[in-house]
Amino acid sequence: MEPFKPLDLNNNEKSDIESTEKIRCLILGSGPAGYTAAIYAARANLKPVVYTGLQMGGQLTTTTEVENYPGYPKGITGPEMMEDFKIQAERFGTEVRFGIATNADFTGGNLKVTIDDKKLIEADAVIIATGATAKYLGLEAEKRYTGMGVSACATCDGFFYRQKDVAVVGGGDTAAEEATYLAGLCNKVYMIVRRDVLRASKAMQKKVFDTANIEILWEHQAVDLYGENGVEGVVLVRKKGTPGEETVRIKIDGFFLAIGHTPNSEIFRDYIETDSVGYIKTVPGSTRTNVPGVFAAGDVQDPHYRQAVTAAGSGCMAAIDAERYLSDKR
Ligand code: NDP
Repeated sequence: MEPFKPLDLNNNEKSDIESTEKIRCLILGSGPAGYTAAIYAARANLKPVVYTGLQMGGQLTTTTEVENYPGYPKGITGPEMMEDFKIQAERFGTEVRFGIATNADFTGGNLKVTIDDKKLIEADAVIIATGATAKYLGLEAEKRYTGMGVSACATCDGFFYRQKDVAVVGGGDTAAEEATYLAGLCNKVYMIVRRDVLRASKAMQKKVFDTANIEILWEHQAVDLYGENGVEGVVLVRKKGTPGEETVRIKIDGFFLAIGHTPNSEIFRDYIETDSVGYIKTVPGSTRTNVPGVFAAGDVQDPHYRQAVTAAGSGCMAAIDAERYLSDKR
């Protein structure tokens, strides 16, 4: 009997690859970083191809109003803004395709990326702008109430909970920011914090402590949600794993996750250096990764700012870095 051999997607003979293509500048991701890289790359005649990823337009498409992106003095909705980015990228000849990068192979200086497990692309330069995805606790109830009271974006969905009671899980800057934002809309905001301290910066902590309608539930962990046609409450365990452990139920209408993000860098990690969380490391002051010809922009390489405008800025840098790399190679 033949020994079991795992499927090798980089080997055309053994894999399901149906077609191959050579591309000068491959851009993965269609958030502000990806599209801005595309605008600059197209104008530099790099003939960029953008693969959008699963969520075309990126995380901003789940946001309602964007009010802090310069150039839109009256604000704009996230989906509209991303459509503008796309139109601008296409205006200069960017080809935008729907597809997901499912594998990467950067051995021997060849930059190969597989799309949808079917198409193998060999690129002269690759810009990774695959973004980050909000983390969930992993409770079955989170799935059950998706779109029915569970959210990972207060600025996107807070509006639906005006004058209601909500909970935010997490004790970092995101949780503190989301809790204070929701406090301005909602009747009451519970912060569910698993330790007896907040990880958030002192300035953000002060904001939370100074907001009358935020109540911190220290050393609590959410274990379940309940409700007939949507979230009506959360089941918490206080001081889990200690002799004083107790189960508490509180009534809420909205359950917001703010426990961090996971950078979408998984398929690159055999080749591209990341930090312990998975954020791609770039050479300071540039978007260059440890692999020549591969650049990273936006949230996939940014654990700190995570703003549309900073992502767009790094997308611009990535295209300029790619252009210089390619012209030096010529
Ligand atoms: P962080 O990783 O900083 O914080 C995550 C929080 O979620 C922590 O309190 C952590 O608890 C908690 N947590 C993680 N997993 C679980 C779990 N399974 N159950 C319960 N709680 C959990 O992520 P953030 O998204 O808050 O911030 C990411 C980065 O972005 C940080 O560098 C932050 O400073 C930055 N940022 C800056 C902002 C600003 O300056 N305005 C705004 C937002 C983010 P524990 O502490 O116990 O680990």
